[in-house]
Amino acid sequence: MRVDPTVKEVREALEPVWRSDKVIGLVPTMGALHVGHEKLIQTAKKECGVVVVSVFVNPLQFGPQEDYSRYPRPFGKDVEVCQRNGVDIVFAPFVDEMYPRTQLAFTEVTRVSEGLCGAFRPGHFRGVATVVLKLFNILQPDRAYFGEKDMQQLAVIRRMVADLNVPVEIVPVPTVREADGLAVSSRNQYLDAEQRRVAPVLFRALQEAARVIHSGEKDAARIRESALRVLGDVRVEYLEIVDPEDMQPVAMVTGSVRIAGAIWLGTTRLIDNVLA
Ligand code: AMP
Repeated sequence: MRVDPTVKEVREALEPVWRSDKVIGLVPTMGALHVGHEKLIQTAKKECGVVVVSVFVNPLQFGPQEDYSRYPRPFGKDVEVCQRNGVDIVFAPFVDEMYPRTQLAFTEVTRVSEGLCGAFRPGHFRGVATVVLKLFNILQPDRAYFGEKDMQQLAVIRRMVADLNVPVEIVPVPTVREADGLAVSSRNQYLDAEQRRVAPVLFRALQEAARVIHSGEKDAARIRESALRVLGDVRVEYLEIVDPEDMQPVAMVTGSVRIAGAIWLGTTRLIDNVLA
C-alpha cells in the first residue's frame, strides 16, 4: 500500500492504472476511520481493481464555530485500517497541498443543498462539492463510494456529477449502525456516557415515523409529530420528510421519502435518516 501526501506523487502512481483497463474506486473520507468507512472500502474492493482512500479534513466544509480544529486525526490508525482492508493507495494531502492559494473557484449545487443540514451549516455543501470535485479531478476514479448516512451529501454529489457531466459513477452504501441502532460516526467519540445512552433515540424516532407511514399515514406534519414525540425533550435541529432525490420537504407522502433528522446532545451534533 502507498501513502501519498502530494498531488504529483499520487498522480504518478495512478498514471499506469489510468492507461490500464483496471477500475479505480475512490472512498473519500476525513479519516478517523471506523466500521462505516470500512464498509465503503470493502464494497469498493469487491467492485474495483484499485482502491484509493482519501484522508483529508477539509477546512472548506467547516463553519467558523464548528469542530474543524478538534476533529479527530488518528492518522497512524487510519493507515492500519486501510492496510488491513487491502487499500492500494491512501491519498492524504496537507491543507496547503489541496489549497495552495486562496480558493476562488467553487462548486455549488443549489436547491438540493439548501434545506436540512444546508440550512444550519451555510457553505458546508459548497465546501463538500468543491473538495469532492477536486479529488475527482486529481484521482480520476471510475467510481466513488459514499455513505447513505450523509444522505444530503450523497444527493448533492449525485446532482453535481449529473449536472456537470462528471464521468464518475456514484455508489451509495447503506448506513452501518451500532447494535442499539446509533449510526456509526467519527463524532460519536465526543459523547459522554449519558449522551451515548440517549443517542439511539434519533434512529428510534426516524423508525417510528417510517412505521407511521407504513401504517397508511400520508400527512407529513402528523408523521413528523410522531417522530418528535419519541425525541421528547432532546434538542432537535430539524426533522423533515423529504423527496429522496432533491431533498425538498413534502406535505403529503405519495411515493418513497427520506425521513431525516439532526439533534444536539451537549456540544455534539448527530444526524441520521431512513428511507420509507
Ligand atoms: P466522513 O469521514 O465522515 O466524511 O465520511 C466519509 C464517508 O463515509 C462518507 O461517504 C460517509 O457518508 C461515510 N460514512 C460515515 N459514517 C458511515 C456509516 N455509519 N455508514 C456508512 N457510511 C458512513
